Amino acid sequence: MSSGISLGPAFVFHDDEESAIPRYSITEKETDGEWQRLQAAIEKTKNDISVLRDRTVQETGLENGAIFEAHLMMLDDPDVQESMEHALKTSLLNIEWIVHQHEQSLVKRLESLSDPLLKERSLDIHDITRRILDHLMFKERFSLADLSHDIILVSRNLLPSDMISMDRKHVLGIVMDAGGKTSHTAILARAFEIPAVLGLGGASKLVKYGDKLIVDGNSGEVIVEPDKPTMEYFEKLKAEVLKRDKFYSSVAELPAKTSDGKEILVKANIEVPEETDSVLRHGAAGVGLFRSEFLFMQPGLMPSEEAQFKAYKKVLAALPGKAVTIRTLDLGGDKLIKEIAQEGEKNPLLGWRAIRYCLSDRVLFKNQLRAILRASIYGEARLMFPMISGPEELDATLAILEEAKEECRKKGQAFKEDLPVGIMIEVPSAAMTADILAEKASFMSIGTNDLIQYTIAVDRGNEKVAYLYEPYHPAILRLIKKVVDDGHGAGIPVSMCGEMASDPMSAILLLGLGMDELSMSAVSVPSVKHALRSVNLKEAEEAAVMALKCKSHKMVEAILKSKFGDRLDSI
Ligand code: PEP
Ligand code: MG
Repeated sequence: MSSGISLGPAFVFHDDEESAIPRYSITEKETDGEWQRLQAAIEKTKNDISVLRDRTVQETGLENGAIFEAHLMMLDDPDVQESMEHALKTSLLNIEWIVHQHEQSLVKRLESLSDPLLKERSLDIHDITRRILDHLMFKERFSLADLSHDIILVSRNLLPSDMISMDRKHVLGIVMDAGGKTSHTAILARAFEIPAVLGLGGASKLVKYGDKLIVDGNSGEVIVEPDKPTMEYFEKLKAEVLKRDKFYSSVAELPAKTSDGKEILVKANIEVPEETDSVLRHGAAGVGLFRSEFLFMQPGLMPSEEAQFKAYKKVLAALPGKAVTIRTLDLGGDKLIKEIAQEGEKNPLLGWRAIRYCLSDRVLFKNQLRAILRASIYGEARLMFPMISGPEELDATLAILEEAKEECRKKGQAFKEDLPVGIMIEVPSAAMTADILAEKASFMSIGTNDLIQYTIAVDRGNEKVAYLYEPYHPAILRLIKKVVDDGHGAGIPVSMCGEMASDPMSAILLLGLGMDELSMSAVSVPSVKHALRSVNLKEAEEAAVMALKCKSHKMVEAILKSKFGDRLDSI
């Protein structure tokens, strides 16, 4: 969810499901347009393949670029083009379908041959076809960038990349069938301060284009075609929300200090550089997590080292004197880019994600590391690695960081030699080995969004199992306590940058568990500060001791509510 209330007309966005290739009739007049679309998609595909070829050659040597050369040649084959043009004009069907049919018949022919080398060509053809189809079909997605009026966006499943590319100034609210509180779409909605309700099941089928909608991101309600009394009720509610926000903005500038003087740093998570304004406006002490992968989800090519350097520098320079923790790429899972999506992994959340992806593409990874290193001198930078699953993976990662540092030194590029390097703890195996990992890290930050997902085995974006997603599960509280103790045992600070930290009641519990820093969506900073300011350390610690003894999350909730509920409800 993302808090706030909004009202507006529904815009139902139908995303292209992965495997469905659209098939529809066109008129004779439309064949030219369809042909142009294909040519544009082929150009984009050529561009993708050239980038891949260059990277492969740079990384593994010249001979490995040959496969991409062959792909590029296939795209220019006049016979192929002629045969598709003929099919388009005679069948009068859309170009996606023609491309798909062409692939099917070619693959069939190749697979009937006995030569294994020729058989393998069918894989190449499939690869190229997928790329072309992606470009043809992704056109729909990117049209969200061309919204011309204010709307409430209703969708089956908006991807994080849709959120990044859409024209946000026209999106008043978001309603989605899939997704949970910690899905990246929800996280981005909070970052962009767009009220959102996710996990509604069949909303995108029920709501029609143009329906008047009220989205209440606080209660999780969506009302279709509200009557007059309902409208009046929500107008009143909106006024109350405004009043509450006004109170919170008066807290924003105050320190997050308990009544007995214990200060805990409350920072913000950001996804795009433009969020630094929001960080300052909400009184965050810095950035505890910059999800750098969103720079890679803008439409177009992967950002170069130079483009990244500029983005990191911009964030650091906008927040002088405030620590900014830049997390290296956490692509994969639900944060897909074409390069990963095309692999069609069965279990993307357990697969080629985050540090695993970076370790398999050293060129990409080192580009990013050098960009961060070079930017580090422009502010209080810290570096953080995502999804570390154990000590050996951390060693391999640190070795690449050393190589990147050496490359900067050789080029005479200045960087902060004592740049703090931390790790995220978001995989149970990392939590269980936190004592070992802490020996090589300057800090640890617990990512509960994933830690809960992987510990309880519950997909954080799947509304059907959302009821199991429970931060107060005894297993989660024990792991958090272990990581805090291990970190402190090794003399390093422990923070949390998962969404759990953004809940005021949980923040009190985390204070009691000994957490040094909390980082969250910027909008949540004032309410968490208010919660921390309304308690003393001793009572928070007592609550934490009790919570750790509880046998169910419900008991933890009841304890926290009975001890602190009144104070938090009183605003
Ligand atoms: C987390 O897993 O808690 C986290 C902060 O990282 P992300 O939400 O980007 O996966
Ligand atoms: Mg994570």
